[in-house]
Amino acid sequence: MSTSSSAVSTQKRLEGKVALITGGAGGIGEATARLFVQHGAKVVIADIQDDLGQAISQELGEENISYVHCDVTLDSDVGNAVDFAVSKHGKLDIMFNNAGISSPDKHIVTSNDERFKRVLDINIFGGYLGSKHAARVMIPAKKGCILFTTSVWSVIGSADVGHAYVTSKHALVGLAKNLGVELGQYGIRVNCISPHGVATPMVTRPFGNLEKEKVEELIAMGSNLKGVVLEPEDVAQAALYLASDDAKYVSGLNMIIDGGYSTTNPSLS
Ligand code: NAD
Repeated sequence: MSTSSSAVSTQKRLEGKVALITGGAGGIGEATARLFVQHGAKVVIADIQDDLGQAISQELGEENISYVHCDVTLDSDVGNAVDFAVSKHGKLDIMFNNAGISSPDKHIVTSNDERFKRVLDINIFGGYLGSKHAARVMIPAKKGCILFTTSVWSVIGSADVGHAYVTSKHALVGLAKNLGVELGQYGIRVNCISPHGVATPMVTRPFGNLEKEKVEELIAMGSNLKGVVLEPEDVAQAALYLASDDAKYVSGLNMIIDGGYSTTNPSLS
């Protein structure tokens, strides 16, 4: 049976589902939380920015979206966030391991060891803990969806971005692939979303006070889609698809959203 595209676009694609989103108080995580609520999901956002998280919850209503303080590097915090979602809503369908940071270090010789470990701790260990606690409640339910925000830097390197971030995102794809294999027998799908160049605070901070349009232009450099800007809401749409039953047979995917950046050889284009 075919469905018209307008019918699909007005459908609530996550009705009855419960989602936990780490790093949900800002950027991609916040945009995803808002879209998931629009699509009927009950959402818990887990972050360390308490004021921002609580404000989103108040705006959209505590019954739709709750905030829980959670440092993704702490086993007890992540365990509590998962238990909170289950005790409030009775289950957890979607775990979005999205919290992440980058490092200013660009050269291995002068790299700061503690900053390197911190990036790995939040980006990799945080995703590991989120998956571990989510799997604990998804396995008995025999279904679930685990998502990671990785990056185009999960498939290529960059002297500008630096080794810590690139290492962490490559590792997350490895973790996601293996979890897809491990957890598939329980009906749990595991996928990655790899954007490139979303003008969130994490990316714009180094540009200081440069005007928004200029920053977006610099960020989008290298994309094949000239004049198109990637917004957090676009990444949220990818998360919506992967979290929904429309993607029921999709697991082990690294969905790259980079305007073709990683497919281009700059010396030939
Ligand atoms: P952002 O800085 O707006 O959001 C990151 C969120 O993670 C923040 O709300 C922050 O408070 C939270 N966070 C940081 N450390 C945490 C911790 N220890 N525990 C819990 N939460 C913590 O940036 P963003 O661009 O929305 O980043 C979201 C994810 O997307 C990150 O994993 C990032 O690496 C990834 N990503 C971003 C881009 C981009 O261009 N913006 C591209 C590819 C991937």
